[in-house]
Amino acid sequence: MSSPQQPFRSLQRTEAQARKALLEVLAYDLTLDLTGSETEFFSRTVIRFRSGGGETFVDLKPLALHAIRLNGSALDVGLLERGRFPLATAAGENELVVEATMRFRNDGEGLHRSVDPADGKQYVYGMSFMDAAPSVFACFDQPELKAPYTLHVRAPEEWVVVANAPGRQVEPGEWEFEQSQPLSTYFVTLVAGPYHVIRDEHDGIPLGLSARASLASHLHRDADELFTLTKQCFDEYHRLFGIRYPFGDYHQAFVPEFNAGAMENPGCVTFRDPLIFTSRVNRGQRINRATTVAHEMAHQWFGNLVTPAWWDDLWLNESFAEYMGNRVTADVTQYDDAWADLSYARRQWGLVADQRPSTHPVAGNGAVDATAALQDFDGISYVKGSAILGQLAATLGDDVFFGGTIDHFDRHRFGNATMHDLLDSWQRAGAGDLSGFAEQWLRTAGPDTIAYDRAEGVLLRTPPAEHPADRSHTFRVAVSDDGGRWHTREVEVAGERTLVPGLGGNAVVLDPYDDTWAVVIPDQETVDALKTQLPSVSDGRLRAGVWNNLRNGFHNAAIAPDDVIDIAVASLPVEDTEDTGRRTVAWLMRDVAPLAGPDALARLHKAAVTKVDATEVGSEQQLAAFRAAIRTASDPAVLRSWLDATPEGIELDLDLRWRLLGRLATLGAVTRDELRASFDAEPANEARVALTGALCSLPDAEAKAYAWSVFTGETDLPNYEVVAAGQALWRGPDELTEAYVERYFAELPATVNVRAGWVLAQAAEAFFPAGSVTETTVTRAHEVIDRPGLDLSLRRVLVDCTDQLERQLAVRTAFPIDR
Ligand SMILES: [Zn+2]
Repeated sequence: MSSPQQPFRSLQRTEAQARKALLEVLAYDLTLDLTGSETEFFSRTVIRFRSGGGETFVDLKPLALHAIRLNGSALDVGLLERGRFPLATAAGENELVVEATMRFRNDGEGLHRSVDPADGKQYVYGMSFMDAAPSVFACFDQPELKAPYTLHVRAPEEWVVVANAPGRQVEPGEWEFEQSQPLSTYFVTLVAGPYHVIRDEHDGIPLGLSARASLASHLHRDADELFTLTKQCFDEYHRLFGIRYPFGDYHQAFVPEFNAGAMENPGCVTFRDPLIFTSRVNRGQRINRATTVAHEMAHQWFGNLVTPAWWDDLWLNESFAEYMGNRVTADVTQYDDAWADLSYARRQWGLVADQRPSTHPVAGNGAVDATAALQDFDGISYVKGSAILGQLAATLGDDVFFGGTIDHFDRHRFGNATMHDLLDSWQRAGAGDLSGFAEQWLRTAGPDTIAYDRAEGVLLRTPPAEHPADRSHTFRVAVSDDGGRWHTREVEVAGERTLVPGLGGNAVVLDPYDDTWAVVIPDQETVDALKTQLPSVSDGRLRAGVWNNLRNGFHNAAIAPDDVIDIAVASLPVEDTEDTGRRTVAWLMRDVAPLAGPDALARLHKAAVTKVDATEVGSEQQLAAFRAAIRTASDPAVLRSWLDATPEGIELDLDLRWRLLGRLATLGAVTRDELRASFDAEPANEARVALTGALCSLPDAEAKAYAWSVFTGETDLPNYEVVAAGQALWRGPDELTEAYVERYFAELPATVNVRAGWVLAQAAEAFFPAGSVTETTVTRAHEVIDRPGLDLSLRRVLVDCTDQLERQLAVRTAFPIDR
């Protein structure tokens, strides 16, 4: 099983406040022995803390608790219950010593341990975020109880160990680390294994990069770019914040099977290692990596130097790091076109989340406990929050914006703070009264919808019915004339109806440059005009804005699927094919094509193949078009011919080979033996994930049963493969997958017994029957949503996925297709 859990209790906000009032943590001394076995490790924690005297508890999730001593007295280990051990503290200084055996995990949390299929080497990294620290060491696990850490690690002799503070190997396999700056528990990490390490230095800051040994040559190829980005960002953050990076070394570790993009642990940031590219990638993937690097660096100040007092302000961390990371990437690195790519990659993540029934204000969600807070950790926290901070920065000007930010860093250095503290800092810096702004944009959920009524010559603003608001919007509108030339003008929308005389034009694209935060919907004349005019638009940001307009319209059943396909066929968004599932081509395939006319897939395929031939040999656009051609292919002979010989300018690398094999598997045109032989020929980690996806994509009962055994936990796979299996299950055919629709709803609630945290929700989403666009499935989903006692994160996934189904049904009803 991935992480067999007793149902641990998540820390309540009121409990955190009480513990904070009682305790001041002075220091942690932490010893980890990773040499015992491949499944478990030894953990010894010494916590020195000052107490007002009285009852509290320490958080601890061990496999076995061996000993616990408070101020020298042994306590009964049997008192551990559901991740908590009760403590009767003495007034004054206390010392707690805990010795326990902990479990290595394979779900990307706690201490994750994995085997590299390329060479059989084993790797470990720590992920303490949100409730996971106590599965590594005993702690008072809440962000407001910061303390310095001293770490001692015993590891196999051929391993390298990196952690938050600088460290060294004092004798073979024995590693000692300096005392760190004060850290919240959720930042504590170590990265241990036969990692390949590359070092550099900039402006007095020692820099490091590491990745699995099998990735060493790829890490070397990327090291120059990564170090250059890091140095450019350090210089810019130092200039903007006026405060030096305070955590000593800056190590960036690329680690296997990491759930998020990255985690900002002070001094030792962990990244998902597919970000070390082993196959050819396009610029979108490089921009995504660059903004991730810059985002985690922004956190070193915002989040790490000053940390939220409680999880309800986690959004502020993410909004700020998202805004600063994107801005700095565009301003000082080679990726000065980052904003266009971000518009494709991120905008809909936030806008769609903000239109779900689960929408919530950016700020001030209460977050009664840590688990509840995690539910609101979504596109609203990152993208909407960032958009609003961007508007604020534009309104205040950089002097006030950064003046307030620096005041905030100075006042709460190495401590904790709240949104109110930041607003106070901005007001002190000259921002004026921000309470109205905060109320309308940060404390009110949902986006306004803005549409153009051409006949009346007005822009109509509709606030969300359930979250009334009165927000004004200033944004640019791009209008095309009959000759296909584009003109931009600024409008201000301050009421329900705003007259925009003389807007005229052919296509009218609202807010293409993401100036405000609203669901902007194009009218039918615009949609029709785009079929001929989009192909000649060369402004990357305008093209991205057009696609966001189209996606908004489709999401609200205001644009016919065949109109979207027409535009895509005329102007394939090849700048945007990175497979994150959030981007346009993935969206076309998943949401639009199934609701469009029966030839939609064939038309997209023809457009992609034409584009491969029409684009410059060896160009990024050609690669992107080729990927789209693979995704849309339905003739195995064509795919086979590409396995034998790719078009000139494109090399068959590992990524493309598995894209081809995966598509062949879905079409039932490859055997298990061929798939396994292909993996054995180049047994890389990403190939293992692709193999699992392909095996579950095959159109036979055995494949679907195997995928299902992954969902139920009967087959135990690491996190990436769980998601791959879920996505593959539903690739059809319908007659084989049908039975799993009902089984999903019946068996979903029990998945809390086999996985937890991030991967619990990821699996629920990946295995959701998103292609079953029927009233029956919607009804069945609501029955489970309404069931008392359903796990919070499962409910959240169901609510969102079901809303998506209902929107798909609405499109089908509005634009019926003869089949
Ligand atoms: Zn972040």
